[in-house]
Amino acid sequence: MRLQYGELEEAFRAELVEWLDRNVPERSVLETPRLSSAHLPEWAREWQRTLFDAGWLVPGWERQYGGREATPTEQMIYFEELSSRDIPRTLNPQALGIIVPSIRDFGTDEQKAKFVLPTLRAEISWCLGMSEPGAGSDLASLKTKAELVGDEFIVNGQKVWTSGAHDSDWCMCFVRTDPDAPKHKGISALIIDMRSPGVECRPFPELSEPDYFDFNEVFFTDVRVPKANLLGELHQGWPITQGSLAHERAMLWIEYAYSMKRAVKAMQEMADRPGLVTERLGDDGNFRDAIANYYVDSVALMAMGYRGFSKFMHGKSAPEHSLLKLYGSEAVQECLLGATEFLGPDAIDRDILGPRMWRSGSWLVQYLRSFGGTIPGGTSEIQRNIIAERVIGLPR
Ligand SMILES: Cc1cc2nc3c(=O)[nH]c(=O)nc-3n(C[C@H](O)[C@H](O)[C@H](O)COP(=O)(O)OP(=O)(O)OC[C@H]3O[C@@H](n4cnc5c(N)ncnc54)[C@H](O)[C@@H]3O)c2cc1C
Repeated sequence: MRLQYGELEEAFRAELVEWLDRNVPERSVLETPRLSSAHLPEWAREWQRTLFDAGWLVPGWERQYGGREATPTEQMIYFEELSSRDIPRTLNPQALGIIVPSIRDFGTDEQKAKFVLPTLRAEISWCLGMSEPGAGSDLASLKTKAELVGDEFIVNGQKVWTSGAHDSDWCMCFVRTDPDAPKHKGISALIIDMRSPGVECRPFPELSEPDYFDFNEVFFTDVRVPKANLLGELHQGWPITQGSLAHERAMLWIEYAYSMKRAVKAMQEMADRPGLVTERLGDDGNFRDAIANYYVDSVALMAMGYRGFSKFMHGKSAPEHSLLKLYGSEAVQECLLGATEFLGPDAIDRDILGPRMWRSGSWLVQYLRSFGGTIPGGTSEIQRNIIAERVIGLPR
């Protein structure tokens, strides 16, 4: 067994690292507070365009879309380098990770021409309209209705938790087009212009930061959507929801692994702070034990990730996706919770920053933000159901 990359792959890494060293914006720019997950300030548009123009935004994609047809191993190296250096590819992650791959996979030639390159070049921003007040884990229960009248769909209903909707130009929105069909069969995907009459976004704040607005309730009242904006076939939206979530899952574990590494390192750096039971936190045996445990978790997560990747490379289906989502998001959360407990009241001090997770913040804020890992893309309970049924083979 050789736990290392080959020469060609290392040459790929060297080329990437050399390019990053020359082109990545200053850290102070990268860490400019983010206003939402669809807000694209000028520096972020420029950075995404720079990556795109150099073939480093979506290296695994075809050249016609600005990729370089990188092999899966090369893509792994790409994500390792970006994650370990905490460099974002985009400030509109749902567009790059979920929506644009779905348009590439399911869109008509006209849709691809209209949306793929402008999205990759950060000229337009997107939100994802899946969840509703009565449809989250059970997404197929969604009720937002779209009726085809002539050449237009008329959309009525409500979405919720729609990240960045108020800053988005477009929404990939899942709607019910056949109310009489079984629930998975009557869903379609529409591309909705967020500036259409009848679209109303009501942003609401997060528990972790009352002055940060990313989530929205989005109301659709008689919104007219051209039939040409139907993504995929009519009533065939369900496979797109599955494809969309798969795009999301595939990219998650490596980010968790490096978030975990950063969190463990930040905990080690807390050692000289005053402890709750010892004068110096680093002299508390429980604190040292906890760091060791979290470190082992981070190494285990990496090993599981590479194991899943290796299976994927050998053409085997990898149930590791669910295991990694569950383990990765919960390991990060436990580590952040542990740190806040050792810090005590200092965990709420805004001057004592925890490891950066999307935005900077105190340790407590980062702990609260970690629920942003355990809930979307299938909650931890849903992952446990999947593992029970599809990996262990337990009855439903
Ligand atoms: C940071 C963040 C960003 C998000 N961004 C978006 C977005 O951009 N667009 C979008 O559409 N949505 C978004 N969401 C919403 C997210 O997809 C939903 O929150 C998620 O699917 C869970 O649905 P729910 O909140 O309705 O909870 P519910 O499905 O109502 O679940 C409530 C609780 O019941 C448990 N539960 C439910 N079903 C089962 C079951 N069968 N077995 C065991 N336990 C179960 C769940 O695990 C959970 O603990 C986002 C959420 C978060 C946290």
